[in-house]
Amino acid sequence: MPKGLPFSVDTFSPISNRKKHHFLTHAHKDHSVGISTHSFFPIYSTQITKTLILQQFPQLDSSLFVGIEIGETVVIDDLDGTFSVTAFDANHCPGAVMFLFEGNFGNILHTGDCRLTPECLQNLPEKYIGRKGKKPKYCLDYVFLDCTFGKSFIMIPSKHSAIQQVINCIWKHPEAPMVYMTCDLLAQDELLVEVSRTFGSKVYVDRVNNAECYQALTLTAPEILSEDARSRFQVFEGFVNFYERARTKLTEARANFQPEPLFIRPSAQWYVYDEDSKTGSQRKQMPVRAKKDSFGVWHVCFSSHSSKEELEWALQLLQPKRVVSTTPSCRAMELNYVKKHCLHKEVTSDDPLWKLMEIGVEEGSSSPQVSTFSEICRIQIPIKVMNKRNLSESVRKLYRSMNVLVPRPLPSLVKLMNSNKRAKRSFQF
Ligand SMILES: [Zn+2]
Repeated sequence: MPKGLPFSVDTFSPISNRKKHHFLTHAHKDHSVGISTHSFFPIYSTQITKTLILQQFPQLDSSLFVGIEIGETVVIDDLDGTFSVTAFDANHCPGAVMFLFEGNFGNILHTGDCRLTPECLQNLPEKYIGRKGKKPKYCLDYVFLDCTFGKSFIMIPSKHSAIQQVINCIWKHPEAPMVYMTCDLLAQDELLVEVSRTFGSKVYVDRVNNAECYQALTLTAPEILSEDARSRFQVFEGFVNFYERARTKLTEARANFQPEPLFIRPSAQWYVYDEDSKTGSQRKQMPVRAKKDSFGVWHVCFSSHSSKEELEWALQLLQPKRVVSTTPSCRAMELNYVKKHCLHKEVTSDDPLWKLMEIGVEEGSSSPQVSTFSEICRIQIPIKVMNKRNLSESVRKLYRSMNVLVPRPLPSLVKLMNSNKRAKRSFQF
């Protein structure tokens, strides 16, 4: 998060330790890097996220956490000004939330990882949602957005539809003695729940070799867990040597003239890879049924991240001033909304951007000239005035995430910064 904010989200590093308040959107490991050695109070998260994190990192002090649940608003006192934060369902995995921050730094929505559906968005305060082509009553200054599929043109079915495709695939293979599902990620538990409910069978998870998945399910869906290793429905570890292990089982069945086991891999990654290698950026049709690959594994396009289409639609409703990609970096620029509405937006003297960049306007001094965000990114000044080292890492990250070069400021901005420096010097003497 930019240096000028009093909080960090999903960041646990020596730099973020300087922040006074820490927020964790959900329990996926790529969002909690560094938390195992974190010792600063408080970390705000939902109770489920806290419990899952403590399962993963038992050495972590549980008293560091402060609970915030979906729909709850917490008012936080800070020396730089009181601000509020509200948690909203991110439709990603158990316990996952988006955070809406409102304070003198502006109004900021951090989505964490999310699958933005209409239900998700309608839970946000109405004042931030534009209706019937009209602008929202209040403008979000920033949306820190999960842009995982911001570049991909694949049409991603809804979670409900993807789950139905998995169920249909199983129905069509009644002869399969075993059904192996690569559902060991936290976001895939709802799929296991629906399969278990539909077929009236519990699901076996190897508690030794797939300990994290097993532990997480004891928390999120203990009723579906089977202790019987012969159960027809099984969670199959989907990453390490997956194809070799699947091929061994398939070959064994064929050699013994036995019905083949069914392997189902619910993930959007296979479709994205397929898209990149074959059709580039061409829009593809929505996958409506499971697809078998040449190895005999069935794929279903299941995603707990928003499609590009959903991202564009959400931004059209929210109409934020700026969008920053949280994951992966440099992806927000692929979105049409950002290209059209964010880069040429005016940056006025009272814009929260200055606060985010920790550039203060000296009292009594003239305001910086009105400029546009893309101008700030484009204008070049002599390296002597401001080289890359003078820009804080967080600001550079902010710009990188917007897919623009590390900025060299406008002459008006240089003036502003010099006057700021002069003010600091006179204060010291
Ligand atoms: Zn995630």
